[in-house]
Amino acid sequence: MRTIILIIISLFLTFTRCQTPFYTMNDYKSVLKIDSHVHINSDKGFFEDQAAKDNFVLLTINVDHSDSTAVKKQLEWALNSVKKYPGRVFYSATFYFDTAGWGTAEWSKKAISHLNENISGGAVSVKLWKNIGMTERDKNGKFIMVDDSALKPVIDFIISKNLPITGHIGEPRNCWLPLNQMTVSSDSSYFAENPQYHMFLHPEYPSYEDQINARDHLLEMHTDLKFVGCHLGSLEWNVDELAKRLDKFPNMAVDMAARICHLQYQSAKDREKVRNFCIKYQDRLLYGTDLSSHESDDHDKVSKWTHETWIDDWKYFTTKDTMTSDMFRGKFEGLQLPKEVVRKIYSENAIRCYKLKVK
Ligand SMILES: [Zn+2]
Repeated sequence: MRTIILIIISLFLTFTRCQTPFYTMNDYKSVLKIDSHVHINSDKGFFEDQAAKDNFVLLTINVDHSDSTAVKKQLEWALNSVKKYPGRVFYSATFYFDTAGWGTAEWSKKAISHLNENISGGAVSVKLWKNIGMTERDKNGKFIMVDDSALKPVIDFIISKNLPITGHIGEPRNCWLPLNQMTVSSDSSYFAENPQYHMFLHPEYPSYEDQINARDHLLEMHTDLKFVGCHLGSLEWNVDELAKRLDKFPNMAVDMAARICHLQYQSAKDREKVRNFCIKYQDRLLYGTDLSSHESDDHDKVSKWTHETWIDDWKYFTTKDTMTSDMFRGKFEGLQLPKEVVRKIYSENAIRCYKLKVK
């Protein structure tokens, strides 16, 4: 009789556990998660090893941040990691934006050929970076924006390869504000260290609205383009503004890389608004961090920092614990999203958008 009662109790507990609508901190390791925006700039593998321990799949994103040598080196790192961790590491390719000959047929031919080399190792998307819109200029000194018709052959090529664009266009809105008016300290410290990117100091550059409008116009020009906007599509400051774009562009999704603090900042003011946004757009949001690893990094430090960042974000999305952030003053409560929403944000959306064959 006692055994039967114990069996009934254990069956009841198993049943109620399955029925629980929310994950807890204890579920962290068992749930498959994808960090859809990282930068593996090393052959050492310690980032990937930490990912394996935490049940994370990684998408490493190559960036055209300086020259063709840097693009080549990133491709080597990415291919090495993809080979070493099949089905657990994927990469996004880029190409070196050389402005020589910009606007001519030769330019697009060369760019496409370079891009083709970069995607041939099995890239799952093509990354466009903020150098388009904020650095590159034509021969008259005019900034080249992402919706420039001279870029069209390259965009058409990407579409013909059935690849999405992972686009970091523009910057957070804080970039156009003085340091003391920025909402989060990650922005104020980044722009204090990188004044060349702090647009408040450069009124001669395109405005925040110019960047957003160019990106929106690109999506209007190419309705068949699948587009993942990095960093909450540079609309991190207001979920309503982001919602307008997601409504307007059905092929647009966004990753959250380095912008979760902006969701938390908005949560501190109106948690339900942010929670409802995540539930309404549950098919369009991809978890990502922008974490990176470099050759010179201290293995233990990177592993610890990576693990802590992932754990902290899991806490924010799955529990309703009261939390604080180093990025701004004040407390906020975790969003405690339903399990199915968490699974979409943490893996299913990335698998669908990037056609990942996760093992
Ligand atoms: Zn990044």
